[in-house]
Amino acid sequence: MRRPLIAGNWKMNTSRAGAFELAKALAEGATDGADVLVCPPFTWICEVAGAVAGSSVQVGAQNCWHEPSGAYTGETSVDMLKEAGCTYVVLGHSERRHVIGETDQMINQKSKAALSGGLKVILCVGELLEEREAEKTEEVLTSQMAGGLAGIDDLSDVVIAYEPVWAIGTGKTATPDQAEAAHAHLRKWVENNYTAELAAGIRILYGGSVKPDNAATLLSQENVDGALVGGASLKPELFLPIIAAAG
Ligand code: PEP
Repeated sequence: MRRPLIAGNWKMNTSRAGAFELAKALAEGATDGADVLVCPPFTWICEVAGAVAGSSVQVGAQNCWHEPSGAYTGETSVDMLKEAGCTYVVLGHSERRHVIGETDQMINQKSKAALSGGLKVILCVGELLEEREAEKTEEVLTSQMAGGLAGIDDLSDVVIAYEPVWAIGTGKTATPDQAEAAHAHLRKWVENNYTAELAAGIRILYGGSVKPDNAATLLSQENVDGALVGGASLKPELFLPIIAAAG
C-alpha cells in the first residue's frame, strides 16, 4: 500500500510573513490521509520549518547543489538544506530543465548527492507538448528516468513526479487516462530496471495544474500516488482540499 504524498512547490513566491502564515495554516489544517510536504523558496526554509514544527507537514527544497561545500557561488548544499529543516529536495523540475538549462547529468549528480547525504528526492520527469504530439512521451520519460537515476541502486528514498510540461502552470491538466498511462509506463520502467518490489512500492506523483476540482479523479488512478502542486499550493483554501482528496 503506497501512502499518498501531496507536495507543494511554492516556486519563487511568498514573502517571509506570507510563507510563515501559509505554513501555519497548512500545519493546522492538514488531514492525515497523506504525507504533506511544502517546498518554499530557500530564504524561508528555516522560517517555514519553525512554523510546521510539531505537525506532520514536512519541508523540502526546490533544488540543491551536488558538492558538499566550496566555491559554488549562489548554490546550496545538501547538508545546509538538512540543517535548515528539509527532508526532501525536488530535482529536475521542468522549469530547471527548460528555463535554467539543467541536464539529466546534472540532475543525476544532484540526486546522488541528495540521497547519499540523507535527503529524499522527488525526481521530476515530463514531456514537452511537441514531444507528446510526436508520440514521444514514453521515449522522453524513459530517457529522463535512465539519465536521472544512472548509478543509483536504491530507490527507497526516491519519489517520481510525472509532470507534463504543457500542463504546468497552464491550467491544462492531463486527462486521468493520460496521467495513468504515463505513470504505468514509469512504474514498468522501474520494474524492468530494478525490481518488481521496488516498482510496487515507489510513489509516482502527478503534477500539472492540480486543483481541488480535478484532484480526486487524478488521485483515484491506480498508479497515481499523490500530487506535486504549484499554483494551488499557495492558498490553504486550495491546497487543503487537495490533501483531503488524497486520503
Ligand atoms: C509545479 O510547479 O510542479 C506545478 C505542477 O505547477 P502547477 O500546479 O501550477 O501547474
